[in-house]
Amino acid sequence: MSTESTVEKLVSLCKRRGLVFQSSEIYGGIGGFWDYGPLGVELKNNIKQAWWRAVVQERDDMVGQDAAIVMNPTVWKASGHLDTFADPMVDCKECKKRFRADDLVGAVPAGTHGHDAAAKVTSCPECGGELTEPRMFNLMFRTYVGPVEDDASTAYLRPETAQGIFVNFANVLTTTRKKLPLGIAQIGKAFRNEITPGNFIFRDREFEQMEIEYFVKPGTDEQWHQHWVEERYNWYLGLGMRKENVRVRRLEPEEQAHYAKDTYEIEYLFPMGWSELEGIANRTDFDLRRHAEFSGRELEYFDEESGEHIVPYVIEPSSGVDRLFMAFLVDAYAEEEVRGEKRVIMRLHKDLAPIKVAVLPLSRHEKLVPPAREVWGLVRKHWMSQYDDAQSIGRRYRRQDEVGTPLCVTIDFDTLEDKAVTIRERDSMEQVRVPIAGLVDALREKLNTDD
Ligand code: ATP
Repeated sequence: MSTESTVEKLVSLCKRRGLVFQSSEIYGGIGGFWDYGPLGVELKNNIKQAWWRAVVQERDDMVGQDAAIVMNPTVWKASGHLDTFADPMVDCKECKKRFRADDLVGAVPAGTHGHDAAAKVTSCPECGGELTEPRMFNLMFRTYVGPVEDDASTAYLRPETAQGIFVNFANVLTTTRKKLPLGIAQIGKAFRNEITPGNFIFRDREFEQMEIEYFVKPGTDEQWHQHWVEERYNWYLGLGMRKENVRVRRLEPEEQAHYAKDTYEIEYLFPMGWSELEGIANRTDFDLRRHAEFSGRELEYFDEESGEHIVPYVIEPSSGVDRLFMAFLVDAYAEEEVRGEKRVIMRLHKDLAPIKVAVLPLSRHEKLVPPAREVWGLVRKHWMSQYDDAQSIGRRYRRQDEVGTPLCVTIDFDTLEDKAVTIRERDSMEQVRVPIAGLVDALREKLNTDD
């Protein structure tokens, strides 16, 4: 399958099946913004829940938080975003297209902004026209707080969730009474006025991040860095991503962000090539020191062992929900031939599948409706489910296969006699007959869930 056709197929499947829509589509859309439909919001929530479960719920050294999107603008002065969160931008003097200069030379040090790779760009890749000199363009969206629009009321939509964690470090430390190492996790929207959004939901102007700031004693940072690289890599594999499509890459010294001592990326083999899913940086004590300096507050930890106040080092695993959404879909998408017919199947891990169980009466026959409704009543209390009685049973199985539903439950005329139903599995297409009385247990076992 060619690169283009894979992404095109996904975009069209996502639209047709209610996963992702172009934002404000009826008005022609708006570049870099997307809406998640009924199935998309389920998949997105499942990704976030799987992450939260792994990094907060199942660990004793992690807590969560949820900071505001708009923060005191001094936060962005301290973090360096006001001065350096910029990309070099060039315009074509002929066709007026705009590009990120570092994209044109194919040298985009991921995780860094404001690097100067622009000098090598000379002509427009679209029309060959002359390009303007590169200008640095700050990616933060600006807004005003309150009724007066002046410099004093200028604020920013956060370009990352991380800073909301650093500024709450002392609050979380005192209120939880935790010792180091201590991690704080957060999921939330971030905004970047990207010069060239694209590749479907890979690069957006509004997106969601899942970030961890893991505070450790200096000297133990390298060991914890390795720990998180392994943890995060295994998380992707645990959710069914194919090993040959995921890799860990250590950034070269010249690719590192100014605050980073060392950075790894977890990359996925997208149709357009290996690209970043998640960055895992050792940010040292850079952020806490900057915020202490700008706020005048002490952002330190009292280490009982040494009897000293220390400024913790920070390991930051930072990923984007929308990018992961796309990667999980690309990875799960397959076309197969079944009895001479093409079947599109989304082999999503059961924890990620938007719908876990579809309830399908064999037909709309009036005798089948009451038991089918009864079965749906049992199932929906436990799992996200769907009732579908439109068209032939074969077509309904295909519809569920292409959105990744792991299990279908079919109610047929035998059900009226034997009070049993058929469970059909997505991947193997195997069918087993189980009594309605034991259905929830049978589904629970197959889905391997605690619900
Ligand atoms: P890139 O080099 O692709 O611009 P970045 O290195 O600037 O990304 P980070 O600042 O490290 O990205 O952000 C952490 C994570 O947030 C990324 O790994 C990615 O998953 C996600 N992310 C960043 N920018 C975007 C975006 N514009 N659209 C969607 N997800 C994004």
